[in-house]
Amino acid sequence: MIDAQRAGKGASTCVHYRTCPLCEATCGLEITMLGGQVLRIRGDRDDVFSKGHICPKGSTLKQLHEDADRLRRPPLRRGSAPTDSRWEEVSWDDAFAEIERRLTPIIDRCGRDAVAVYLGNPNVHNLAGMIYNRPSGLSPTRCSSVL
Ligand code: SF4
Repeated sequence: MIDAQRAGKGASTCVHYRTCPLCEATCGLEITMLGGQVLRIRGDRDDVFSKGHICPKGSTLKQLHEDADRLRRPPLRRGSAPTDSRWEEVSWDDAFAEIERRLTPIIDRCGRDAVAVYLGNPNVHNLAGMIYNRPSGLSPTRCSSVL
């Protein structure tokens, strides 16, 4: 539990209403914050679908968010798999530059059908993932055929 002293002098609480990203139920969340830290998560009683109900996973998003082992930056494998490689955290700019460096020649050589995106739980249920992770040039039908 955090308090105003730990969160910073003069910190005040504010409430954000969001949709749980963990599964297709897309339950409404009421998230109380204090000084940039999550104080409490509970169901949003005014959510038209979930009407205040959430499961234990949704109520523990604070612990997931604050987990010391949670990935916060993209991991990039250096070296040759499987024996001579290691994972290294890099910046998002470096990760996107590496993706461009390695995928662009493949697309240039073999066409857009040479690459695909795999979406799993939970982002497969997130509309943003479906919209923004779709490689340009692939039809929605072709994308959904692998789901
Ligand atoms: S609260 Fe539970 S049931 Fe609701 S969307 Fe999140 S994970 Fe799914």
